[in-house]
Amino acid sequence: MDKHEGAVSQLVDLLGRLPGIGRKSAERLAFHLLRVPEAEALALADAIRKIRSDVRYCAQCFNLCEQELCSICRDDERDQTRICVVEQPRDLMSLEQSKAYNGLYHVLLGRIAPLDGIGPDQLTIDALVDRIRAGNFTEIIMATNPTVEGDGTSLYISNLLSEYPVQMTRLARGITAGSVLEYANREMIADAMSGRQKL
Ligand SMILES: [Zn+2]
Repeated sequence: MDKHEGAVSQLVDLLGRLPGIGRKSAERLAFHLLRVPEAEALALADAIRKIRSDVRYCAQCFNLCEQELCSICRDDERDQTRICVVEQPRDLMSLEQSKAYNGLYHVLLGRIAPLDGIGPDQLTIDALVDRIRAGNFTEIIMATNPTVEGDGTSLYISNLLSEYPVQMTRLARGITAGSVLEYANREMIADAMSGRQKL
């Protein structure tokens, strides 16, 4: 820590707290930022400032957005009869990149994880139930991650929604158990979507 000057040391320290960035990578990034044109480095600082001030959750699906509703919820070209339930905005992004799905989404902002003290009421499940109750959905696609907690969350939600006349499906298990949507490639996600199964 003391081998760098104050500002460099602080940046290395902050970068090193980011997920997946060790001390060595943090140093490499800090020195990279010193080397690149000033505008490029400051654009990164501005982007960080902007996501913290402008980005919020969509009032309907809890995707990240900069307006009341996200671009997906505002797009009436999308299939309004299907809703795909994911854990995090980044899972939604993975599914969007696969271009295998044209319906709406609902982001839970987590998964039920009793061991971490995360119960159903800390997620956006109530809002999901409200949407199903109010909307004309014919299919709910559970796309929680194929982990014990993801499966448990999916089961909890499907039980909760069993009284509504909607078909519940889940992504096919082309995605290896234990892997997460975030790391699956586009083809795998597209296969999982097209091969989805009744729940
Ligand atoms: Zn939305």
